[in-house]
Amino acid sequence: MSALSISDRGEGRTYDVVVVGAGFAGMYMLYRLRGLGFSVRVYEQGSGVGGTWYWNRYPGARCDVESMQYSYSFSDELQQEWDWTERYASQPEILRYANHVADRFNLRPHIQFDTAVQACAFDEDANSWSVTTSDGGTATAKFVVLATGCLSNARKPDIRGLDRFKGPVYHTGNWPHEEVNFTGLRVGIIGTGSSGIQSVPVIAEQAKHLTVFQRTPNYSIPARNAPLSGEDRAAFRKIYPEVRRFAREEAKNGIYTEVPDRGALDDGDNERRCKYEARWARGGLTFMSVYNNLALDKGANDTAADFVREKIAETVEDRATAKLLQPTSYPIGTKRICIDTDYFETFNRPNVTLVDIKTNPIEEILPHAVRTGGKDYEIDALVLATGFDAMTGSVAKIDIRGRDGLTLNRKWAEGPKTYLGLMSAGFPNLFIITGPGSPSVLSNMIVSIEQHVDWIADCLSFMRDGGLGTIEAEPTAEEKWVAHVNEVAYTTLYPQANSWYMGANIPGKPRVFMPYIGGVGPYRQICNEVAAKGYQGFALTTPERARAAAVSGPRLLSRPASARMRRPATSPGNTDKVRWTISTIAPWSAWAIASLAQPETRRDHPCGSSGPRTCGPSDDSAPYVRASRRDSTTRHECRSGYLRP
Ligand SMILES: Cc1cc2nc3c(=O)[nH]c(=O)nc-3n(C[C@H](O)[C@H](O)[C@H](O)COP(=O)(O)OP(=O)(O)OC[C@H]3O[C@@H](n4cnc5c(N)ncnc54)[C@H](O)[C@@H]3O)c2cc1C
Repeated sequence: MSALSISDRGEGRTYDVVVVGAGFAGMYMLYRLRGLGFSVRVYEQGSGVGGTWYWNRYPGARCDVESMQYSYSFSDELQQEWDWTERYASQPEILRYANHVADRFNLRPHIQFDTAVQACAFDEDANSWSVTTSDGGTATAKFVVLATGCLSNARKPDIRGLDRFKGPVYHTGNWPHEEVNFTGLRVGIIGTGSSGIQSVPVIAEQAKHLTVFQRTPNYSIPARNAPLSGEDRAAFRKIYPEVRRFAREEAKNGIYTEVPDRGALDDGDNERRCKYEARWARGGLTFMSVYNNLALDKGANDTAADFVREKIAETVEDRATAKLLQPTSYPIGTKRICIDTDYFETFNRPNVTLVDIKTNPIEEILPHAVRTGGKDYEIDALVLATGFDAMTGSVAKIDIRGRDGLTLNRKWAEGPKTYLGLMSAGFPNLFIITGPGSPSVLSNMIVSIEQHVDWIADCLSFMRDGGLGTIEAEPTAEEKWVAHVNEVAYTTLYPQANSWYMGANIPGKPRVFMPYIGGVGPYRQICNEVAAKGYQGFALTTPERARAAAVSGPRLLSRPASARMRRPATSPGNTDKVRWTISTIAPWSAWAIASLAQPETRRDHPCGSSGPRTCGPSDDSAPYVRASRRDSTTRHECRSGYLRP
């Protein structure tokens, strides 16, 4: 029996670990923990595995990271044997893949479907979590892992009259399992984010008429989807080791692509245009990595935004419609960039109408129409492509109570607070996969999921081996991380958009930039370094100390000597080397590590200021974040070599 087991290894609803959610994150977490010998129960509110791909069955749904990369890397046999049929797999194919993984690795016996976790309460005496589920049961677990997904809480808009609509109403994020046929129907769709952009061309082909209600136009790049041949797959499989290594360790967004070595304004007009044309022709998300400063420099960003606006104007025949479809109110890439198949072309069809609901918001929904701008648009069916309460929505639906009965919702009332996006102070032994404060939605999410899962699995092994009782984020480490996440975000253009990254799509949600923008590779190194230093910034306790802390308050917690001296197996051995690597990759991350490690020795810059806001590294090879912006309100280069060894 493992040191962590608190009773009967799974029987009688007592487990080492409860995992909430059976999407890609929950499935891989289960796989790793079972492999390590932990008893695990996964609760999934849906009737099957796949998460996002179980729920989002709308017409045109597919991934926007190429399938050869939007897939697990943990099993070489799996990645060598699974045949993706298209450059971007469709939802049914990704769901088949998820089911294949569940069967191949025998995961189903440990997953309880059709069961939502409703509440989790930390019992400070027993030093464990009590988990209440929708079937009326309660389970007890030493650890809880929230694999609840960043985009899993579909957002139904609050529009007057919506409940009185007589026709069917569909949400893209909760699409029926049976086929939906729009043939001969007048369909309305509200929302032109990624799901809207994917579904509009497909619905338009079927419907008698499609009315698209648009509040904010989006930048979208052609996907250039195509079948993958056996040769395509074979060629890719040969370079898989390097693709996966790069995605994990070097990429900013977890995608294998060329590293841009110059900024957009370093090229002349013609050269720049040629590069944008080439990326447009190639298609896909890598359009945004043609230059290294599109997310940092408004002037640079404008060149890419202008290019896309021109393409929209060239594609859409009606000038007024083209103008409405051109985004102007935020920099390109600062809302999730979309990729599409014939989205803009669809507005040339005679059966498609675009309606601007920014100028004239929807007044109400009538039994057979949508009323806006004093006009009624008659429809038979309504599609809501209104997105999600992103990153925190599914966590917030669970009543989570930590120390002293503090609820996570109360703690996060002004925005989510985590250390590394993995844990929140006051909630011991509760982990979040791809939580706010980690790269998550700014990345190829399977790369980020695997990184978090591996880190958590290593951490739990470490705790078991050391006979430890609890792990908990230290409030000071959390505060610094939150400040760092914010500060990094505000060195970029991202906060200039009212995006769901900021919580701006949910009325009343605090405006906080939630994901960590410092880059997947640097972030991984920060996490590794934290682990290598005995989980620096986390308080670790033996069961006895945890009980003492329960009596005297959490401030008694401290890191025991055993924690400081041991390293998890996968941790890098040479932390100086790690720090050096990070400083050459991302000044933000180098700052983060130094700040977390030794706040008392943090030096001011020669330029008279301190912190990442003021300095880039002296090494120009930093591929993504070279400080090319000399705007005194955001960042400038004093080139001090700050934090270099
Ligand atoms: C349409 C769409 C396309 C996308 N395309 C891409 C892409 O191309 N590339 C990319 O990187 N990312 C993409 N994403 C993001 C996608 O969410 C992630 O890639 C990934 O699938 C997330 O996996 P997950 O397991 O973390 O979460 P999810 O897949 O969301 O799974 C979470 C699961 O938890 C369950 N759950 C939540 N709360 C509870 C509860 N209280 N009790 C029980 N169960 C619960 C949910 O039912 C769900 O099944 C896309 C998202 C959408 C919506």
